[in-house]
Amino acid sequence: MSPTIPEKQWAQVIEKTGGPVEYKEIPVQKPGPDEVLVNIKYSGVCHTDLHALKGDWPLPTKLPLVGGHEGAGVVVARGGLVQDIEVGDHAGVKWINGSCLVCDFCQQSDEPLCPKALLSGYTVDGSFQQYAIAKAAHVARLDKDTPLDAVAPVLCAGITVYKGLKESGASPGQSVAIVGAGGGLGSLAQQYAKAMGLRVIAIDTGDEKKKMCLEQLGASAFVDFATSKNVVKEVQEATQDGLGPHAVILVAVTEKPFQQAAEYVRPRGTVVCIGLPAGAYLRAPVFESVIKMVTIKGSYVGNRRDTTEALGFFRRGLIKAPFKVVGLSELQKVYDLMHEGKIAGRYVLDTSK
Ligand code: NAD
Ligand code: ZN
Repeated sequence: MSPTIPEKQWAQVIEKTGGPVEYKEIPVQKPGPDEVLVNIKYSGVCHTDLHALKGDWPLPTKLPLVGGHEGAGVVVARGGLVQDIEVGDHAGVKWINGSCLVCDFCQQSDEPLCPKALLSGYTVDGSFQQYAIAKAAHVARLDKDTPLDAVAPVLCAGITVYKGLKESGASPGQSVAIVGAGGGLGSLAQQYAKAMGLRVIAIDTGDEKKKMCLEQLGASAFVDFATSKNVVKEVQEATQDGLGPHAVILVAVTEKPFQQAAEYVRPRGTVVCIGLPAGAYLRAPVFESVIKMVTIKGSYVGNRRDTTEALGFFRRGLIKAPFKVVGLSELQKVYDLMHEGKIAGRYVLDTSK
């Protein structure tokens, strides 16, 4: 029996860049031939959603906009061309909502680089609503026994940090510095790094995040960027031989750490930039970067394969990052806390409240 799909639903809508975000009723859309309609049960709130609201990036959003790209729910309708996912299946709406599947990048499974990629909660409406549309080829396939609240953050934060760790080239037994460790991406990055056999040095600020990183997430050391007299020295000293971490995963939301990482990374090490602070530039000393043979690179979400692999780690019980559930109606409060840097881990919205 097909589920009953209402004509109207609750959503968080941005009418103009800068906000505010408005909780209101809007029509439920119908999926196109290659799309599915997903009844979103839970959606994680990523800092990207706040960048979109504030207009932080040199890429305009659609307006009005429904944000959100960590949406986990149930397929309630599908277009006529969709054959490999059924009504009733559990699915995730992620940042890459769709891509052309034929361009040079899509052919090489670099779908995030597709010039025609559709971005959930940015260029198309996302998961801060009860019913969201995504291209069937791109929705994440979720097992029916996967908890939809806990898995939501994996759909952006998890995929992204897992991909970034792979891009770093760090191998088991080596060390990785996670910069912005106490936030959504950072908390998952520590769990993925640990599961991949890496030793974690967490960098963030405050006692709550320190406790979470050391006691819950398995970091070997914590460096507080706000109170440390010398971040570069402290990070290097936190590695077993004092030569610095083999890789640095930058998921912070301020510019400074992007200018510091090349100084403490180990010779031959790799700095992976993932965070996207507004108007920020990368800066590294040429002399040290050359004589240390440092690699600095960007990493952007992940492809469908990375999605399956990142979900596999979750399914095997290796990813248990802290999250708090609040109602969809409370999104603005979550944004306020995020803006102040006060969220340890992730907030997940329950779309029924
Ligand atoms: P968040 O707000 O949950 O966490 C950011 C953390 O950075 C906070 O804990 C904050 O205290 C910390 N921080 C701030 N300044 C710091 C500093 N100087 N040193 C160390 N830590 C510092 O944000 P999030 O949801 O985890 O997102 C992080 C960033 O990643 C955002 O810019 C987001 O847009 C970006 N992002 C990128 C991709 C990608 O594909 N490249 C994907 C998802 C998110
Ligand atoms: Zn995100």
